Amino acid sequence: MLDQLHDYRRIALEELAVVADAATLEAWYRAHLAPSGKATGWKRNIGKLPVAERKGFGQSVNEVTAELEKAFQLHKRRIDLLELEKRILAEATDVTLPARGVARGGHHPVTLALREVIGVFEQMGFVVYESPHVELDELNFELLNMPPDHPARDMQDTFYVDDDVVLRTHTSSGQVRAMRQLCPGPVRVILPGLCYRHENITPRSEIQFHQIEGLLVGPEVRLSDLKGVLLKFARALFGPNQAIRMRGSYFPFTEPSCEVDIRCTLCGGNGCRVCKQSGWLELLGAGLVHPVVLRNGGYDPTQVRGIAFGMGIERLVLLRHGIDDIRLIFQNDLRFLRQFA
Ligand SMILES: [Zn+2]
Repeated sequence: MLDQLHDYRRIALEELAVVADAATLEAWYRAHLAPSGKATGWKRNIGKLPVAERKGFGQSVNEVTAELEKAFQLHKRRIDLLELEKRILAEATDVTLPARGVARGGHHPVTLALREVIGVFEQMGFVVYESPHVELDELNFELLNMPPDHPARDMQDTFYVDDDVVLRTHTSSGQVRAMRQLCPGPVRVILPGLCYRHENITPRSEIQFHQIEGLLVGPEVRLSDLKGVLLKFARALFGPNQAIRMRGSYFPFTEPSCEVDIRCTLCGGNGCRVCKQSGWLELLGAGLVHPVVLRNGGYDPTQVRGIAFGMGIERLVLLRHGIDDIRLIFQNDLRFLRQFA
């Protein structure tokens, strides 16, 4: 009987030695050490022995059981480590894998153009002045030398919020605000932003568009400053050999007023479809600030003069990229916008 016990011990330990995973280990435990297992079974055999042998054999069974129990605990620790290692490997991140590309957005072409234009004027010492989009009729029209019955109001189809309040039709609405804030000091500001007009939406007109307005007021300011500033601006944007020309025009808030053209960027002045064979492209409107407007801003027109100019940003974008439909700018079609990213 004792020999059989030792054979059993050997076989059980051999079986345990080759167990390599938690499930098999669990099965081994149930087969041997659980209450219904073989090791426990040996204890039941003790009673079948002659009384004299019972004590000695019982001791041997206890020793074997204790040894198996100890071997099981040792092996279990080994298996636990193996299982942990397997899990770590399965969950691990391979840091040598190439990264997924990050989808990056881009700026809207109008934002890009605004930033570029603002940058050029900032180099000349202008600072950005923000004024409200919803504006008093007084600031949008009246103080700019356009009283209620003025025919020039018909040039701008206006969204009225009520009798006295409008959506600004041009960034010029900020001129008097800026002057009143900075008076009696000099003014050198640019006023960028959205403007609104009650227009039909066509390839050439939109109900919203961006303008950038420039205003320079001081005792030494004269018309030649206007030409200098605008020539520098045109050359910064369209190249060092760019030429401009000034043509007489009419705006209620400047006197004299002019339209400023740049030499056609496509044909270099020889005449093409875009410049309608004239060799020139319309860029902006400008002039000396009207004395009435200066007075409304708090200045004495006999002591100071001012220059003002205003241009459409969308028009710049269309010109520079050869786009012939302004509606594309506001449709937010990603196929269009991605070309500028
Ligand atoms: Zn041309």
